[in-house]
Amino acid sequence: MRPFSYARADDLAQATQLGIMTGRGATDAGTQFLAGGTTLIDLMKLDVLRPTRVVDIGSLAGGLGAIELGPHGLRLGALARMAEAADHPQVRTRYPVIAESLVLAASAQLRNMATLGGNVLQKTRCPYYRNTVWAACNKREPGSGCTAIGAFNRNHAILGVDRSCIAQYAGDFAIALVALDAQTELRGPHGTRRIPFSSLHRDPQGHPEIETNLEPGEIIVGFEVPAMSWFRRSLYLKVRDRTSYEFALASAAVALDLSGQTVREVRIGLGGMAYRPWRATTAEEFLVNKVLNEANALAAADLALQGAQTHGRNGFKPTLARQTIVRALLQARDLPLEEQAA
Ligand code: FAD
Ligand code: SF4
Repeated sequence: MRPFSYARADDLAQATQLGIMTGRGATDAGTQFLAGGTTLIDLMKLDVLRPTRVVDIGSLAGGLGAIELGPHGLRLGALARMAEAADHPQVRTRYPVIAESLVLAASAQLRNMATLGGNVLQKTRCPYYRNTVWAACNKREPGSGCTAIGAFNRNHAILGVDRSCIAQYAGDFAIALVALDAQTELRGPHGTRRIPFSSLHRDPQGHPEIETNLEPGEIIVGFEVPAMSWFRRSLYLKVRDRTSYEFALASAAVALDLSGQTVREVRIGLGGMAYRPWRATTAEEFLVNKVLNEANALAAADLALQGAQTHGRNGFKPTLARQTIVRALLQARDLPLEEQAA
């Protein structure tokens, strides 16, 4: 590991000032915030991330670690641990898709350490990004090329990619947040702002080294999820090579508002198959006012996958993704819940 300086922030204002060198959404910024450290320290040891300064924000957990439910919905502090949110009784009953996305992620030990803010900013698991033996990786070394195109890309993305990067967004929790129209609260050197969670992550746009729309020094303070009684009818389906301690090959976060078998409203987030947390809005629009049967679920899945691009070894993914979407929709339909008022 390379030498770096360490600073501990006593409050948010100091953290944003100390973090001013974090760069604009850059994957390898000179300054990095340290939350649980389960991504950051790993990648520093691998020499993939090379910050010269690490700003420890762990001491802010008192203010930024709360999980609160109120009339306006759910507020999740960015420094709440994954395990705390996964096990929270009201999150489990009122926002099952959030609890499930967390409990199906990583391992119990990691969930006890890792934070929600760090989780949404985790880095791709592309093996060519994580191993500096491979010289060509636009995300790690801008302008160097992309080894994964034409190489071992079984787990790479099929949606939202371009020739600069086909990496998969690996997280689970973010898929639930993007589905449920969450907002992200940010605090930077110039104040506080809120942005839709769906605009936190960027498309590659030829510059995959810039991963988010965070401004220099900005910290994620928390996430807000609207109060919708029908979010109780929601689930997270994660398909992977083994049933525990593995990243998704394909996943779907689904929330359904039904009148009988007819869809009043639906939210679909997709993981494991896209460059960033992905919302399947055309599929959602198609399903509204339709009976949720297998034929309509298949048609919606086809719409969700329009424009998918494969690169050889991930050629199986459109089929897997289609089945995952259909299964998630039908399982959500069949959840044994009493109908909720809209
Ligand atoms: P850190 O490592 O501390 O930070 C990660 C990044 O976010 C850093 O760049 C840091 O500067 C930045 N950051 C952290 N907090 C903030 C903030 N509040 N504001 C601004 N920037 C911030 N995840 C899944 O979703 N599903 C899985 O199946 C899964 N499996 C895993 C398996 C293994 C073996 C490992 C090591 C990890 C796995 N993960 C998985 C990822 C894991 O969940 C993340 O490493 C973890 O959530 C990151 O949180 P952290 O608090 O440790 O972040
Ligand atoms: Fe790098 Fe992206 Fe290509 Fe992987 S897919 S080698 S992260 S540029």
